[in-house]
Amino acid sequence: MGLPDFSQREGYAVFERDTLFIGGQWLPSAGSAQLSVQSPSTEEIVGIVPAADTRDVDAAVAAGREAFDEGPWPHLSVDERASFLVRLLECLEGRLPEAIELQIDEMGGTRAFHTLTMSGVVPFLNRMLFDATFVRHRELREGTAGKVVVLRQPIGVVGAITPWNAPVMVAISKLFPSLLMGCPMVLKPAPESPLSAYLLAEAIEEAEIPHGVVSIVAGGSDIGAYLVSHPDIDQVTFTGSSVGGQSIAAACGQLLRPVTLELGGKSAALVLEGVDMQPHFPQLIGNSLRNSGQICISTNRILVHQSDHDGFVEQLVEFVAAMKVGDPHDATTDFGPLAAARQRDRVEHYIASGLEEGAKIVLGGGRPAGLEKGWYVEPTIFVNVTNDMRIAREEIFGPVLSVLSYASEDEALAIANDSDYGLGGAVFAADVDQALRVASRIETGTCAINEAPPSGGGGPFGGLKQSGLGCERGPEGLESFLELKSISLPRGYEPDWSADEPEPAVTTP
Ligand code: NAD
Repeated sequence: MGLPDFSQREGYAVFERDTLFIGGQWLPSAGSAQLSVQSPSTEEIVGIVPAADTRDVDAAVAAGREAFDEGPWPHLSVDERASFLVRLLECLEGRLPEAIELQIDEMGGTRAFHTLTMSGVVPFLNRMLFDATFVRHRELREGTAGKVVVLRQPIGVVGAITPWNAPVMVAISKLFPSLLMGCPMVLKPAPESPLSAYLLAEAIEEAEIPHGVVSIVAGGSDIGAYLVSHPDIDQVTFTGSSVGGQSIAAACGQLLRPVTLELGGKSAALVLEGVDMQPHFPQLIGNSLRNSGQICISTNRILVHQSDHDGFVEQLVEFVAAMKVGDPHDATTDFGPLAAARQRDRVEHYIASGLEEGAKIVLGGGRPAGLEKGWYVEPTIFVNVTNDMRIAREEIFGPVLSVLSYASEDEALAIANDSDYGLGGAVFAADVDQALRVASRIETGTCAINEAPPSGGGGPFGGLKQSGLGCERGPEGLESFLELKSISLPRGYEPDWSADEPEPAVTTP
């Protein structure tokens, strides 16, 4: 995609805005609170934007409601909506270099990480448009007492809540499918990362997405909770912690409101006996430590056969020790700071708990020397870890790996599956058939073998157990923005269209 190299950039202005994007218009907040965004690497203020208050959410939801109830958005064909999204992508593409800068500034992820996620935007849209061809908006079925028309119709106004760890990509992975399926969206980004969302809003405006279809109201969890329970929201989609997900699920349960939850994880990488890991280290470390471990599908429990354990640990330590911790703007940096001071506190707390419970540190464990500013923690590797320790059971969301050893494949699977979470996983093996059998027995929503990317492409992405409800991506993810309706036809009635005809993709037969 040819992203300009900003690595030589000198200094930058504080990103300031005094409006929110509500229903396609730039409006001042009804309140006076602001979000001041502190750089995780310099600890300086890098952005100041309004914090949405409840009246802003009311206005955003009302705009979405009107766009859904009065149209035209839900009544356009999928092709027409796809054209808007292609236009939106064109408007966004030119802004991706700035999106990389703003995301580095606001949440401290490295240039390499944000360049990787932003290079996924175009393939994401292309794949989604392909997946949409598998969604049946209108079917004619032979029922038990006559024909039945089955419709999949836009579910309504969607409230979306996103975290800070990959702000633009997570927002897009909710916004694009919601819009394609005909649903307006009110998006609430995390208070740590509200800046990059402005670029998304600017692109939406430039793409002339109809008024009311998208609103972006950054704020804290109180604003998120208000949005989730708003009477005029029809569907909620949340990505964040399992604790947040439980609270949102409870609110939606009370309202019987559909909800999709993409939550935390504690995923395992199974290194099968005898595999030569040398060529796989880049993938293993990418899967587990990318973004300083602040990725939901991080495979930070590494399970190694006991006969390979010592040699593996030696190689692992050598590989990670050679990686660079430092300024996230520097293109050669592997590990930036953690996104917030409280996130560093959390990681340090877990490192202390690992030591207290008897695990041993073979790399890192402290703050890197020479970095006086910023919320840095050294990449840390624990051995002598058992699966009952907190570092093996709880989501740390930081650059901390735990190596556990096993004696048999069954024991490896038992350890991997003895988890409250069920999000991702990886299997490294010389024999891919064997790896596939093992992967099929791992109790998670996704799993990757060897160099395959951790969340695939085209398959549904979602978690089991405490890792979530429902899924994103694939035709299945698109269908989460649709609701089903069955219309039974009187015996002998034949509609004036055939089941083989191309579907109109409008919402009425
Ligand atoms: P978080 O749950 O604290 O916050 C996420 C978002 O939800 C923020 O916008 C926050 O303001 C809002 N929020 C929090 N509690 C809420 C509530 N009760 N009601 C409404 N809104 C609420 O999570 P975080 O610290 O920002 O992000 C890290 C977490 O996100 C990790 O647990 C990580 O695993 C998870 N995550 C999951 C996925 C996935 O696809 N499964 C992807 C990225 C991150």
